[in-house]
Amino acid sequence: MHSTRLILSVLVLWLGLAPAAVAQEIPHPTDFFGFEIGTDGELARYPKILEYLQLLADRSGRVEYEERGTTTLGNPYVLTTISSPGNLARMDRLVEINHRLNDPRGLSNADAMALAREGVPFYFLYATIHSTEVGNTQTIITIAHRLAVDESPEIAEILDNVVLLVVPSQNPDGQVLVVDHWYETQGTAYSRTYPDLYHHYAGHDDNRDWFMFTQKETRLALDIHRELKPQVTHDMHQMGSTGARIFVPPFQDPHDPNIHPLLIEGQAQIGTAMAAALIAEGKGGVVSHQQYDLWAPARQYMLYHGQPRILTEIASARLADPFVNPAGADLPLGPQQARLNFPLPYNRGTWRLGDIVDYGFTAVFAALGQVAKYRTTWMENYYRVHRDWVDRDEAPYAFIVSADQRDPFETYELLELLHTGEVEIHQARRPFTAGGEHYPAGSWVIQLAQPAGAFAKTMLEQQVYPDLRYYPGGPPIPPYDVTAQTLGMLMGVDVDQIDEPVLADLELLNEITPRHMPMPPAPGWGYLVGPESNAAFLAAARLQRAGVPLYRASDGFESNGRAYAPGTWLVPPSRDAAEILEGVSRDTGLVVGGADEAPDVAGFRLRAQTRVGLWRAANNMPGGWMRWLFEQYELGHIEISSLDFDGDLSDKYDVIVLPAGTTRSRIVSGLDPERHDEIWRWAYGVGDTGWRKLAQWVRDGGTLVALGNAVSTARELLDLPIEPVLPERRSRPGAATQDSPRDAGTDTAGLRETFQSPAQLLAALRDRVVEPTSLFYCPGSLLKQEFNPNHPIAYGMPERWPVFFRFDQAYRLTPSFDIVAETVSRYPDEADLVASGWLLGNDLLRNQANVVAFTVGNGSVVTLGSQLAFRTQTRGTFKLLFNAIFQGPTETVSARELARLD
Ligand SMILES: [Zn+2]
Repeated sequence: MHSTRLILSVLVLWLGLAPAAVAQEIPHPTDFFGFEIGTDGELARYPKILEYLQLLADRSGRVEYEERGTTTLGNPYVLTTISSPGNLARMDRLVEINHRLNDPRGLSNADAMALAREGVPFYFLYATIHSTEVGNTQTIITIAHRLAVDESPEIAEILDNVVLLVVPSQNPDGQVLVVDHWYETQGTAYSRTYPDLYHHYAGHDDNRDWFMFTQKETRLALDIHRELKPQVTHDMHQMGSTGARIFVPPFQDPHDPNIHPLLIEGQAQIGTAMAAALIAEGKGGVVSHQQYDLWAPARQYMLYHGQPRILTEIASARLADPFVNPAGADLPLGPQQARLNFPLPYNRGTWRLGDIVDYGFTAVFAALGQVAKYRTTWMENYYRVHRDWVDRDEAPYAFIVSADQRDPFETYELLELLHTGEVEIHQARRPFTAGGEHYPAGSWVIQLAQPAGAFAKTMLEQQVYPDLRYYPGGPPIPPYDVTAQTLGMLMGVDVDQIDEPVLADLELLNEITPRHMPMPPAPGWGYLVGPESNAAFLAAARLQRAGVPLYRASDGFESNGRAYAPGTWLVPPSRDAAEILEGVSRDTGLVVGGADEAPDVAGFRLRAQTRVGLWRAANNMPGGWMRWLFEQYELGHIEISSLDFDGDLSDKYDVIVLPAGTTRSRIVSGLDPERHDEIWRWAYGVGDTGWRKLAQWVRDGGTLVALGNAVSTARELLDLPIEPVLPERRSRPGAATQDSPRDAGTDTAGLRETFQSPAQLLAALRDRVVEPTSLFYCPGSLLKQEFNPNHPIAYGMPERWPVFFRFDQAYRLTPSFDIVAETVSRYPDEADLVASGWLLGNDLLRNQANVVAFTVGNGSVVTLGSQLAFRTQTRGTFKLLFNAIFQGPTETVSARELARLD
């Protein structure tokens, strides 16, 4: 196909036809879509955009189109590659060069420089990961069109010296939902903004998944990184509507010291080129050195893989409608005072879709021009970053994951994530010693002297966040996102940092597989599965579905010389049980034991089928993540609809889970029927009657599980005997819900954008961010925690393990006549509670409760005060949630009853 096109275009040139004759075959976007891209009120739809890109690929020798997979909801995920026909013809060689420079071990400096001259930088551009940021995908149409048809020397220079990788939408599902909704509500009184999550599971958090790789779209983008090894990634976003018009790099502290300095300078080079080009066209409102930081890898995988991440954030219109200053169309949009990092204010009072398209267009071409002009330098620097990592010779040298772990499943998942993130993993053939510790054969070693050393290091080490304040002793400067990502702590896996070279007999692993654990012979009495692995919950869900009775021991015991912890799962032997346990063990490394005689232990009989309801308020991200989590664990959950409240709740649910962000008003009021038509009925509120019905369902025997700030909802619902111990925040950045569909700019993080003088800053601090007198601040960190593993809700937990805490609350128990409360976990009585990340106000947390279990009438409530399932990344604490779910409807059984296992 491709070479035919090349020959044809050569033929056309040879015949003496003007190149314009070729271009004429390609329709202008205005003709193809029926409106000028960027016209008020008009948005090109995703399927039509794909048609257009395919047309470009068919008719231009500069464009190739590839469908690389399908998204969560089954839409095509597309990559278009745009470059000169000559470059497209030698893509294999160019990709080979990228791979060689990415891993320069054994490559001489001279050879690397020669490859850099031969190669061409790949610029990976994508838009609309956040689907309400609708402008940028429109821009991509105009960018692709220009590159396909323009015969100017500037475009020739770009095509010859850059390979542009374009993903027209990084979240096609949401783009379809948002744009379809926009058209469907045209001319109605309904809200024009799609009211629910625009990514089926992650919502606006879909760009916080760049280290856990949970979502299909993340993995599809990652495949591009792994396969093509681009030199730059540009992530196009939009923000609020007032203040600056576009944020470009460079950004601001803090920056993760694992990010190579050349990448920070690379960001600055492209950002400065963008700013200059915009200002040259008279486009005001360009700001740099502001708001966005370089800390969490959750948003910026690229910065740990040799690429500057170019983030542009353009001001938003009202979706496709103009944003007009409500105070007057002649007045500037928010603060517009010139300063060094904002040299040309934007003084108009209106901002339209067309402005977004124009700003994005100029910025992208400025970036492409910069990369094209300094092509060889970009390739050389890509090499230098990786050379410095593979030549690393300083502490820490490595991280070791011992083969001796509590949870083989999460250990496997941790290694699989690193491997997917391009990290090399070795396994020891024999026992060895490192850092004074002895490790068994089969332990895994992650050497930092490797191409992806930066990613490995930032994911495995403890984060020490700089104590950034507005002034000494003053309020904290908020980070853009969370401050800790230490993977071992998040996942419940012991990982050791090693500060000396590791000398061991190691084998490089090409793939990561779960540890093989042989099944025991069919036992005389029952199968035993310890409570330490999360995989046991997957087994429990499958066993319940197959109708296999399930028990848990309430104390520790010994069997066949092995010690079993409280909470051990006891399963009567049957062909179904054996098959299910063997299958789960094969996929997860779950350890299954067998006993020929009943242990002398009492316990619990689980319900035949635990029926789980998930409260998913519209647009609630923790609820979306929970949906994903429950599906992974095959809980067969039901999402609660306001319509259920017509019937008896106990007919449907044993357990109801309230994710963070489930407030009383979301339960009672929900979506307004005046603003949202019938298809949203499930999310309309249940009213005060429904609220009382929910409380009664608990007292009658239901189990309510509340996470994060939903704990205060549960407390209000049932008058639980706990009270918060931390000061309430007046407003919080990065709220758990996707209420503000755009990136910060209107939220508290926008503070740094809006202040123009110290007086303004102080006023804003007083009103909007954190009270300067506030003693407590924890924007997303891992904090130390003590558990009671003898309590059913903490079965399988170690006595100490960190929990994730983000603008959450801690509690103290208060007296109650009728409700019994038991503390399951608490913050230790210590002077430093930080395991990783940043915390101010340590003393307020000391000795306070986090997880509490209540008996309320015939029912029960479990409150998880901090976000123990945050973005499904906190796998080390999933057990608390799953225990609460499975334990709720159990009944206690004596040792004699348990011995019968019937
Ligand atoms: Zn965004």
